[in-house]
Amino acid sequence: CSKHQGRGKYTHFVPAMLDEADERRRMEADLRVALTEKQFSIAYQPIVDAERNEVVAFEALLRWNHPTRGEVSPERFIPVAEDAGLIRGIGEWVLRTACAEAARWPEHVKLAVNLSALQVEADGLLANVLSALAHTGLAPERLEFEVTESVYLREGPATGKTLEALKSLGVGLALDDFGTGYSSLGYLQRAEFSKIKIDRSFVKAAANGCQESLAIIQAIISMAKGLGMTTTAEGVETEAERKLVRDLGCTLIQGFLVGRPERAEHSDSPAVAEEAVELKVPVRRRTSR
Ligand code: C2E
Ligand code: MG
Ligand code: MG
Ligand code: MG
Repeated sequence: CSKHQGRGKYTHFVPAMLDEADERRRMEADLRVALTEKQFSIAYQPIVDAERNEVVAFEALLRWNHPTRGEVSPERFIPVAEDAGLIRGIGEWVLRTACAEAARWPEHVKLAVNLSALQVEADGLLANVLSALAHTGLAPERLEFEVTESVYLREGPATGKTLEALKSLGVGLALDDFGTGYSSLGYLQRAEFSKIKIDRSFVKAAANGCQESLAIIQAIISMAKGLGMTTTAEGVETEAERKLVRDLGCTLIQGFLVGRPERAEHSDSPAVAEEAVELKVPVRRRTSR
């Protein structure tokens, strides 16, 4: 059984003599100007219904085009932005921009936005959400936040209240990368989350014949059903993986097979890969730009 963990989180090569701390300091300084220099953009990746193959949502994924380094992975720069106290400002920009984009889509298509656990802990998230919805006219039911289990690990005094408040607004909450964190299953009883996103490492390993990963996916789906939650399989890259998770009863599918993340500016058609020609894709209505 191949290891499902350790999916090359960060492959950027740093010469041994170069201090990682120096590297982070440089990145932090660059991140401080990235917003005002308009170096950020958002890519949208489709999420489809496992049975009907219809696009039900797009996930907003932050992109940073650094003036000299080029594209920097969010897995690399988001932790730096968190440590530098920059994630709230960046997150607010992502939320505003993505909500404005989603307001142009057909009404049945939802928007998923990633939130760092730090954003959930911090004051002002609720106000930012209300303001983004009001300014863009996006219905709260069309917005869903994705948070990893770390939200429970580093839970602050306001975390529970904020999650509850978002839920009562009608905003959806999904547990991202499920199975890779260290949180207790008991948290699921609190019922703030209505969706579990099964980490792609399990999908990959199970499709490669790993019985343990298969058992974990089955258990997650069965547990989610019992709790009235839906499931999304992340990182579906092959037809075999798609068939596997669909046959196991997974509700939604996301991955390169279905569509890669694509910037909205570059095309009028949604981000859908050519392999998935049978997809019934909503037409994006563009009212401006
Ligand atoms: P995530 O939320 O779990 O997003 C899914 C990641 O998997 C994305 O990487 C996506 O491009 C990638 N992916 C999707 N399908 C496939 C596939 O079939 N195969 C493979 N190998 N990868 C696939 P990305 O865009 O590099 O983002 C990485 C992480 O950075 C995200 O993981 C999320 O945790 C974080 N992130 C991205 N945007 C934001 C943001 O606006 N705010 C915050 N706080 N975090 C963000
Ligand atoms: Mg996500
Ligand atoms: Mg994920
Ligand atoms: Mg992730």
